[in-house]
Amino acid sequence: ANALVWFRNDLRLADQPALAAALSAGQVPVCIYIHEPEEEGDWAPGAASDAWRHHSLAALDVALRARGSRLRMFRGPSLAVLQALAAACDAEAVYWTRRYEPAIERRDAEIKRALRGQGLHAESFNGALLFEPWQRATRQGAPYRVFTPFWRSALADWHVPSTIEAPRSLPDLDGDPDGIPLDALKLRSARGWDAPFWDHWTPGEAGAHEALEVFTDGALRGYREGRDRPDQVGTSRLSPHLHFGEIAPWRIVAALEEARTAATGADIDAYVRELGWREFAHHLLHHFPETPERNFNPRFDDFAWARRDSRALEAWRTGRTGVPIVDAGLRELWHTGWMHNRVRMIVASYLCKHMRQHWREGARWFWDTLVDADLANNTLGWQWVAGTGADASPYFRVFNPVTQATRFDPDGRYVARWLPELADLPVPLRHAPWDDPGRVRRHAPDYPSRPIADLAAGRDAALGAYRALKDRA
Ligand code: FAD
Repeated sequence: ANALVWFRNDLRLADQPALAAALSAGQVPVCIYIHEPEEEGDWAPGAASDAWRHHSLAALDVALRARGSRLRMFRGPSLAVLQALAAACDAEAVYWTRRYEPAIERRDAEIKRALRGQGLHAESFNGALLFEPWQRATRQGAPYRVFTPFWRSALADWHVPSTIEAPRSLPDLDGDPDGIPLDALKLRSARGWDAPFWDHWTPGEAGAHEALEVFTDGALRGYREGRDRPDQVGTSRLSPHLHFGEIAPWRIVAALEEARTAATGADIDAYVRELGWREFAHHLLHHFPETPERNFNPRFDDFAWARRDSRALEAWRTGRTGVPIVDAGLRELWHTGWMHNRVRMIVASYLCKHMRQHWREGARWFWDTLVDADLANNTLGWQWVAGTGADASPYFRVFNPVTQATRFDPDGRYVARWLPELADLPVPLRHAPWDDPGRVRRHAPDYPSRPIADLAAGRDAALGAYRALKDRA
């Protein structure tokens, strides 16, 4: 008997419940991938995601071939492809790992119904999260809106999946259907803008495990403090690997627990708590599926954003706002497909508060340029910073980018790395070049001489707008 194993954002062979289901039923797994961006609604993957996916699919195919199988790739629509393949391969079952984006949840439910209606065994599994997003509820049976009680309830009732080793060899179907070559999916940018990314990343399951090892051997010690330092390698950089399911979160937890000592305990707890934020983001997206577009807190529907300013937005996107820590972050993003979490908060705060541009503008840019772009995490991150979210930072918290830079990039190394034109300036000036415009003009004639939104005036305007909303409530 044969079964289709439909790979999506679970591009791995270890801890792969869909593949394990086929094998334990004694079925030959026919491993497939279906390219179907138009089925993702308003959130078809962005350019950086596509580029990563290209490499990750290639890596999965190599891993499958090494075991005697291969990845067959197709273009959607998904249901039609699954039906045709099930018939062509004489498959009796279709297995996949769940995704939680609203458009995909809806589509998958329809697919499951249709396949079952035809007498096929269609079954989906959790492969992406420590807990299913619907698993936790408040005592009143409602979804959580605040992280701390959500996480407390998770810790009090801690059951996460067990690890499953990758199969050493796999049976394969003889002959057709072959599918189309990876290049035909056209996932890579024609301009080659992503070429420098790959100095920083190795997409695929092996790359994910390597990143985990590098982290447990290195930055894990001191993570609790180090995670806030963009000038150091203080975090795991596992986010794109997690997004594409190249590694299971419970595998990460298991590996960290093995490294637990008196010295690392607090760092491990802090790390698992960050994974908890990822769980919480998926919990929110599942229960509040409109939040990628709409304010979680509808009170903010009346917020006085400034008029959309396309020139200012362009300056922000290209890292030319004149605020060095903001520009460094946006250039890190452009050159590597990733940005440090602390800097994500700083650039987002500057956009939403000082520039008073809508958080959706920033969320869209991140969506297109982050290799870890993830609808749940990105929505939570932007709404948190904008103050419009479920569990939001208080409206009066307006990050001062210079204070932030002085605290978290004390030697200015992060700024120097991404804005080499400012590297010769001494440190207080490197974070606030407008304090000595003459000197900056000599060193970096092309760097903006003043911030696009003045720090003091921008802060006052933001606070005024938030206060007006509060008074109206
Ligand atoms: P680590 O510190 O090593 O954390 C480990 C893992 O925990 C991460 O890989 C990630 O999966 C999870 N995690 C950590 N912090 C958060 C968080 N605040 N929210 C949810 N999960 C978290 N993360 C994304 O994966 N995709 C996004 O599209 C995304 N957009 C963001 C937008 C904004 C405005 C902000 C402020 C944050 C965003 N984040 C997003 C969260 C966070 O910045 C990244 O997950 C983190 O920087 C990834 O680096 P890391 O793997 O080295 O993190």
